[in-house]
This record gives sequence, C-alpha cells and structure tokens, in this order.
Amino acid sequence: MENNFKKNYVAVIGGSVSGSQAANILAEKGYSVVVFEMNDLPYGKIEDGLPKWHVNLRDKQEKSIDQKLSHPNIYFVPRAKIGRDIEFEEILNDWGFSIIIFANGAWKDRALPIEGIDKFINNGLVYQNTLLYWYNHKHEPDYKGLKFELKDRSIVIGGGLSSLDVMKLGMIELVQNALKKEKGIDIDMFTFEKKGIAKVLNEIGLTLKDLNLYGMTLVYRRNATDMPLKSPKDNTEENINKAREVSDKLLKKYAENFLFHFIPLSSPIDKVEENGKLKGIVFQKNEIINGKLQTKKEDTFVLETPMLISSIGSLPEMINGLTYQNSLLKMVGKNGYQVDGFPNVFAIGNAVTGKGNIRESKKHGVLMTNKIIDDHMKTSDFFEEWLSVYNEGIEEDVMEQVCEIENEILAKDSMSDSVFQNISDRTKAYQEKVGYGNYQEWIRTKTPVRLENIE
Ligand SMILES: Cc1cc2nc3c(=O)[nH]c(=O)nc-3n(C[C@H](O)[C@H](O)[C@H](O)COP(=O)(O)OP(=O)(O)OC[C@H]3O[C@@H](n4cnc5c(N)ncnc54)[C@H](O)[C@@H]3O)c2cc1C
Repeated sequence: MENNFKKNYVAVIGGSVSGSQAANILAEKGYSVVVFEMNDLPYGKIEDGLPKWHVNLRDKQEKSIDQKLSHPNIYFVPRAKIGRDIEFEEILNDWGFSIIIFANGAWKDRALPIEGIDKFINNGLVYQNTLLYWYNHKHEPDYKGLKFELKDRSIVIGGGLSSLDVMKLGMIELVQNALKKEKGIDIDMFTFEKKGIAKVLNEIGLTLKDLNLYGMTLVYRRNATDMPLKSPKDNTEENINKAREVSDKLLKKYAENFLFHFIPLSSPIDKVEENGKLKGIVFQKNEIINGKLQTKKEDTFVLETPMLISSIGSLPEMINGLTYQNSLLKMVGKNGYQVDGFPNVFAIGNAVTGKGNIRESKKHGVLMTNKIIDDHMKTSDFFEEWLSVYNEGIEEDVMEQVCEIENEILAKDSMSDSVFQNISDRTKAYQEKVGYGNYQEWIRTKTPVRLENIE
C-alpha cells in the first residue's frame, strides 16, 4: 500500500475511460477503491462499440485503462453489474463506502420513435449497441451471442459519426459476403476498411451491380451539413460554416468510399408490416427554416427494407433506486455531478448525459477546424482522432470532478476498522466467487481472440 494511505473506501461503478481515470486519481491519493464492472473486461465502448478494425486505437486505449486499474490501491470486481448482480441499495447501505461514483457510461439505445416497432427488435430492427457487439465478437470461436446477417437495402437511421461507422461496417459485411457467395472471392475486412469498397471492387473489375447489390441507405432528419460530426471552434459565422463544410465533406467521403446512399431531411414516423414481418418504413419529409427543423406533415414516402438499423444514440441504463428525469440521472449540486437524493453518490463521464462535455466540444473545435478533409485523409483517421480527443476530454473532466468529489470525502472522518474490514471482506468474497485472482492474469485470460490485421 502507498504510504499516503487513507482509511476510506470509494466505490466506482464501471471501469472504462471515466471509471479507470476516477479510480486511479483516488488510488494515487491513497484511497482504497473498489471498481465494480459488469463485464469481464473493463473497456466499455472501446471493446464493444468501437468497430474492431480500429486495432491500434483499441489496443492503446485498453492499455491505458489497464495501467490505471493496475494500481495497488484498486480492487477490481468483474461480472458485478450494479442493479443486476448487486443492488444499488446494497452497496449504498450494506457495504459502507464513503463515496460511490457512477461511471457506467451510456448503454441503452435511444428508442426509435415508431409506435409498435419494438416487436421487431432483433428480428428486422437492430439497435446500434447490439449490432456493434455482434460485429466485434462474432469471429470468436466460443461466441454465443445474437447473430445477424446484414441485408441488402438495409436502412440506417442516424446522423452522427458512429452512424457513418455503422454504414461502413454494414457495407463491408454485405460486400464481403456477396463476393464470397457470388464470385468465390475472399477479401478480408481490413483491406476493405483501408482501401474503401469502391477501390477494392474497382481493382477486381466488379461493381455492386455485378454482385446483385443495391447497397444500404442512411436516412437523416436534417442535411449533411447539419450533422454533428464536428463542433465549431467558436460561434462565429465563419467557423460554424467551416464546421458544416467538414460534416458535408466527411459524409460524401464515407459514401463514395463505401458505396452507400444518403437521404437527408427525412424522419421515420411509421412502419409497414406484412405477414408479421417488417416490410418498410414510412418517412416524413422535413425542411430547415432559419436553422430550425420543420416537418412537412403531408409529404411522406415509404422505403421498403428487410432490415432497419437504429443509430440514434445511447442513454445511461436505469438502475433501481436512483432517480431519473427525461431518461437521464437526476443530478443536483452546483457542479451537476451529485446524484439527487444521495449526498455521497456522484456520476461522471457519459453516465451523466449519455454524451459529451463542454471541454470536449472546445477541444474538438480547435482540432477539427484546422483539419482539411482531403482526398488522402482516411475516414478511419478522422474517427480515431475524434475518439482520442474525446476521451482526453473525458479524462480531463474526470480529473477536475474527482478532485472536487474528494472534498466530500475529506469532510468525513476516516472509516472505522470494522467498516473498512467489512468492505475488504465483501470485495474478496465477490472476487473469489467469480474466480478473479489478480488483474493482469484476469485480463490475459479474458481478452478474446483478436483478428490479425494484415498490413
Ligand atoms: C462507436 C462509438 C460511438 C460513440 N458514440 C458516442 C456518442 O454518441 N456520444 C458520446 O458522447 N460519446 C460517444 N462515444 C465515446 C465513448 O462513449 C467514450 O469514448 C467513452 O467510451 C466513454 O467512457 P465512459 O467510461 O464514460 O463509458 P463507457 O466506455 O461506456 O464505460 C462504462 C463502463 O461501465 C460498465 N457498466 C455499465 N453499467 C454498469 C453497471 N450497472 N454496473 C457495473 N458496470 C457497469 C460498462 O461495462 C463499461 O465498462 C462513442 C464511442 C465509440 C467507440
């Protein structure tokens, strides 16, 4: 143990970017920290959300989480989902932590606003988090999760940077499968991702049509220029326009390289079903008047589709015992990260808003305004830069938040020996129950088989 040892235990829920940063800062200050993580691995969106071709970025970010969680004052507790394996009330009342910090991210897909569409979930309708989980893990020999087959003429509803990665993923999967089936040609995912589908097909003298494919379609409620792909550096007209230009260029680049269709200014309002199957989606046209979206109620159209993918964002999952307002944790306090009703419970990172923070947008503005999306820039590079800067923003925010949260601990007395011992015993018992011994060994044995990136 560190010589600045403080007799206080803190609980952190979630071990990924936010959680590992919070845990490490407190551990460095001499606190004992128990990190409860619902999965085997503490990598959150990096492992299960970032498409698996981002090998270097994934490995770099996961290594950084490992370094933080390897601190001797941190006790990692995997397979412990708060609200499922351990109730929130239990860690609040029975364990006796000084402070509880939620860093559990945003894992619930925002519901698609079409009445009755839920009956098609995973059978016609797939949400982004589920799709990405399957995509990232399907190559593992012992994969037992849901299985999907990408269909031609699939429709994706969305508009952020991750919806563009969903288009890329879907088109790669579609073309890869069709090439194998129709022509007996096997080309790996990394080659498609690096070169783009258009170039790979061109090199072998084929088109989508030769593979009997039409392609997938991305439908967005606004224009490409309105996509939240980058934040402007500041609110001057010049920089707002620059940001809009980047969004437009980026979408075009993705669509050209990965051969998908784009329909702007349209929102889904209803479904078409036939014999109990999803057959299509009814869309309503929109227009933008003075920057505001207006629906054109009478102007509707139907797109037939065998598969609908919803990529309209994620929200924090609700946990029993906590108060929510408009699907988000109800926060109080001057800094907005104290959880309503509990003076010693806090929430940080994406767990609070389901998305970014102020610092993130400032940093992104500076970085991306200077960036020209030229013909040589790969779509992957843009995404990776976005995520790296985004996560740096999270880390900086967490640093500030945790320093303030520490004041709450300092205001308390040290724990009694019996409470401290109770937490140690419960932690050990839980770790033993799931077969956890030490961090490095656990990570080594639980990290799944990776696909080999052929350069
Ligand atoms: C494909 C992709 C899309 C993205 N889209 C967005 C976006 O739309 N908006 C945005 O702001 N950011 C987005 N990001 C950024 C991303 O969310 C951040 O980079 C970062 O992963 C957030 O870190 P976090 O620690 O707050 O959350 P997460 O990475 O989600 O980590 C949360 C951790 O908590 C664990 N956990 C969850 N619930 C529980 C529980 N009840 N008990 C115990 N453990 C739990 C999870 O397993 C996970 O390890 C995206 C990232 C990727 C890769």
